[in-house]
Order: sequence, then C-alpha cells, then structure tokens
Amino acid sequence: MSDDLFVRFWGVRGSIPTPGPRTRRYGGNTSCVEVRVGDTLMVFDAGTGMRELGVHLLKARAKELTVHLFLSHPHWDHIQGFPFFGPAYVNTTTMYVYGPKGDDKNYQLLSGQMANAYFPVRFSDLGAKIVARSFNGTAVKAGDVKVKCFGQKHPGGSTGFRVESGERSVVFATDSELDQMLVDPDIVKRDPEALRELPDDLVSAVRGADLLIADAQYTDAEYLTKVGWGHPRATTVVDLAVQAGVRQLALTHHDPMHSDRDVDLMVLECQERAESLGVELEVFGAREGITLKV
Ligand SMILES: [Zn+2]
Ligand SMILES: [Zn+2]
Repeated sequence: MSDDLFVRFWGVRGSIPTPGPRTRRYGGNTSCVEVRVGDTLMVFDAGTGMRELGVHLLKARAKELTVHLFLSHPHWDHIQGFPFFGPAYVNTTTMYVYGPKGDDKNYQLLSGQMANAYFPVRFSDLGAKIVARSFNGTAVKAGDVKVKCFGQKHPGGSTGFRVESGERSVVFATDSELDQMLVDPDIVKRDPEALRELPDDLVSAVRGADLLIADAQYTDAEYLTKVGWGHPRATTVVDLAVQAGVRQLALTHHDPMHSDRDVDLMVLECQERAESLGVELEVFGAREGITLKV
C-alpha cells in the first residue's frame, strides 16, 4: 500500500453555510474534509460539505463503502451535513463514528439531530450499518491507518486529529482558540511581533506535520472583540505551525462575514507573519473542491 495521503476539502466555512457571490471561490459549505490512504476513507467533520462528498461517493458506485467519521465536536457547523449524506441511506455502507474512550456521545448526537421534530427520516431507518467506536486512549486504527486525537480550547471542548501514514502526517485542528492557550498570555499586548509560545503537548501533537489544517477564523483586529468565542487569531496559527515545524498550513473555518477577498488578505497576513518569524512555511486558504497529495 502506498503511504500517500490524499486530502480533499468539501467544506471550509465556519459557523454557518455562506453561499453566494462573495464566497464563491473558497466556498460556503461548513466543515468537512476527506482524507484517504489507499482504500481507507476517513472523513473529518460532518458539516454541510458532507452532502457533496456523499454525492461524489455514490457516483463512484463502490460496491461496498466503509467510512471512518471523526467529529471535532458537535456544534451545528460540524454535524449538519450528516442527515444529507447519501451513502448513509445505502445498505452496503458501513460507517464508524469515533468518540473519546468509553463514550458514544458523538454517535448519540448524530442520531439526536435527526429526532422527529428536526428531520423527516429517523436515524434508525438509515440503511447503512452505523457503529459507534471509541479511541483507545489517544489513538485508534481506522483500517490500517493510525489516527491520534488531542484536546483543544473551545466552548464545550473540541478534538484535534493527527493522521499518520508511514512518514507522512496530516493534522486536522479546527475550532480551537489558541490565543487562550498561550504560555505567556500577555505576550501579544507587550510585543505583537514576538513568537507566541504554545504549550508543549499541543506543539508535539502537531510536530512535523506535512499539512496542518487549522481554524484561522479571525484577523488580529477582529479577535479583539471575539475573545472567548473559541477561535484564534489566524496569525497565532502560524506561530503554532512554526513551533511544530509544519511544512504546509491550510487556513480553514473561514468566518461567515469574510468574502473571498477577505480570506485572500488573511492568507497574506499569515504569509507575512511566517516571513517575519524567519521561517519558510507554505500558507494557503482551504478551498472547497481542492485535492492535495501529501
Ligand atoms: Zn465551528
Ligand atoms: Zn464550535
């Protein structure tokens, strides 16, 4: 089996779907990323982008389909696509829904959002075999692929994931207010240019990733009025990537108020931040529909 990881973005918007001419280039669907290694299909988050992924998978007409589904957390923008995921209605599909050790909360929440008052089809009537699985400590095997998890800072909590295949790795880390995790919380006020040091356990979870897909919702200016909302300054994500020796950084969870042009400007702001820290880091805005080989 090749170690190559294929990553495809199906939803990159945060908070709420934002279709329309202002967001056409990056896309308006909420959080959903596909990662494939050989025949193993992993899906990170079940935001509205998951509907299009389902359409794509059904078109491919695989006889049997196994989907490993990991949820960062159950806020709407991360689960709302699930009831519209076509393969969930097909009896040749098996879905594993992962949660923390000894906890089937994620499975319960997916079914809960299909309660009769919210949705016409009951979870129990879905054709697919849907199974709750939990992490064994902080790691689990999805097929032959190792996935690790780590805690993040977000209202109600959220989970980041690291997928490892041979020497390659991809980290999916959305909905995390890095600015509330800084080792020296006052550093930004004293010296906005100085490196914002993040805790060792977080840095080691991300260490050496070939691709870090990270929540980068706010500009420096916006963050001042959004403290405690659960999302970071995009520039602080750069600092995490720099400390962890990441190769490529994909900014995601774009703010619903941000137009394509605004996201372009944030990417520039982050590229300048990396340069000012003296590091060569490839930074780009995650965009619906793009596929990367890692
Ligand atoms: Zn979110
Ligand atoms: Zn959230």
